[in-house]
Amino acid sequence: MASHGGTEEKAARYAPAVGSDADIARWRTAAATEEVAEFFRLARERIAEVVRTKRPLCLASGACCRFEEYGHRMYVTGLEAAFVVERIDRARTVRASNPLRLLEVHESQSRGDCPYLRAGLCGEHEERPLGCRIFFCDKGADGHGADWQSELYEELHTATVTLHERIVAPYRYLEWREALALVAEGPRVQER
Ligand code: SF4
Repeated sequence: MASHGGTEEKAARYAPAVGSDADIARWRTAAATEEVAEFFRLARERIAEVVRTKRPLCLASGACCRFEEYGHRMYVTGLEAAFVVERIDRARTVRASNPLRLLEVHESQSRGDCPYLRAGLCGEHEERPLGCRIFFCDKGADGHGADWQSELYEELHTATVTLHERIVAPYRYLEWREALALVAEGPRVQER
């Protein structure tokens, strides 16, 4: 099975694929810091810069967000999931909508897609995770799109591991919806 945001092999290597309440609480605390926000801001800029250069075609079909149908998986760290959910929850509050609920995640798992998919498109495009920003099904005119995507992912993943070490945050590498489920059911209220 193909993947964006990493590989199943990497997930197996970096697992444990679970996070304790203490892990989730730490991710949430760290996700709210300037240091982590700055890290993801720079990572997003770096991706945008490479994508501008490579100019892959995106027909906004939403195919890559329907994981089972498309035949792939996306992975994130628990810290990134906490960061993204926090930002999306905040945007949802502004739109008078509810924060991410565990039920939404479970429903998306049953459908085989992402809980943020809306009418075939990403409903949270501004705050989507790094893996979604890097992955394009178009491999480019030279057919080397998969190479630059994996190289860029590896570069940012290495930086992410270093960030975890620097801020002393627990490192967990998880399938996207598993990570969302952890964060959605974790000790969100107590940490705010
Ligand atoms: S966050 Fe958006 S782009 Fe990423 S998988 Fe979900 S719907 Fe697709």
